[in-house]
Amino acid sequence: MRGASPTAVLALALTALPALVGGVACDGGQPARRPYAPSLAVVADTRLLIFAPHPDDEVLSAGGLIQQVREAGGTVRVVYLTSGDSYTDSVRLAQHVRRPTGANYRAYGHQREFEARAALRTLGVGAWSLTFLGFPNDGLDRLLSTYWSERHAAYRSPYTRQRRPAQSDSFIPDTEYRGEDLTQELAEIIGDFKPTIILVPRPEDQHADHCATWFFVADALGDVARVQPRFHTDLVTYIVHYNSWGFEDDDPFLKPPEDLDGGVSGWLTVPLTDRQVNAKRAAVHAYKSQMDSMGWFLDGFVRRNEVFSRPAPPHVSLPVTHSVCGELEDPPSRKNKK
Ligand SMILES: [Zn+2]
Repeated sequence: MRGASPTAVLALALTALPALVGGVACDGGQPARRPYAPSLAVVADTRLLIFAPHPDDEVLSAGGLIQQVREAGGTVRVVYLTSGDSYTDSVRLAQHVRRPTGANYRAYGHQREFEARAALRTLGVGAWSLTFLGFPNDGLDRLLSTYWSERHAAYRSPYTRQRRPAQSDSFIPDTEYRGEDLTQELAEIIGDFKPTIILVPRPEDQHADHCATWFFVADALGDVARVQPRFHTDLVTYIVHYNSWGFEDDDPFLKPPEDLDGGVSGWLTVPLTDRQVNAKRAAVHAYKSQMDSMGWFLDGFVRRNEVFSRPAPPHVSLPVTHSVCGELEDPPSRKNKK
């Protein structure tokens, strides 16, 4: 185990609030007084913003919900923090090389971006709704602390050998692999898009990039609240990597992990129609590089429902001085997965 336990992470990240207080901190840091709905309301005005650490996390967690938002007339936007370029076994397979170079890793990242566009196209979401931030795969948690500000040289990916996203990927000029740069970009996106629902990984997710994504989004929400005190959104979490969850049974329904709580409104289960399940399967299978490497894992998320939870309003302030994104040693879903 590296860093704090998931329980400790949760305690650090969340402040418990009474059960019937709803919304995300938006009014000078105070949550709006409104009841939490026991479900996700999807209407024509819904603006769904999904933060995905890697290309495929958005369809694994919410391929069905994305369709429901589109069918209701709502708007979907997906932001990929990394392009999933450091998955070495899959880079070897896709690039036909035994010892990948920086160029191989970068080319593989572009391949995953291409697959993301194809996957979302099958769900009716156009390429203009996807944003690739190009931050370092397998490096996000380092940006929470050591590589937070200009007091330290920017983080350099040991895979792609890069210290910054491609200029075309950045909203803010001179963005580099630093935590404060990433928070700034996320805050810019949230403040501009004004989502009614934000989907983000839970901090207990055992992939450090996923856990770090939670912290960056929570930190960015604090920034947005300071600039736009009336902004309100429904912050909802998903989970992908948690022990053997997601592939430990063949039940047609996906049950929440037994030892995780369902947050302030209990687990949110979104049932899918047969057509939505089939379209989700097509979207997941569009990630050919991932299917070739571990299709068994991805198929575990194609079921008759999706599960989410709603955290209490976060009070996160970065940087952190110690590791907050612990990982189990070699959890099954991490052996080959990025
Ligand atoms: Zn991922």
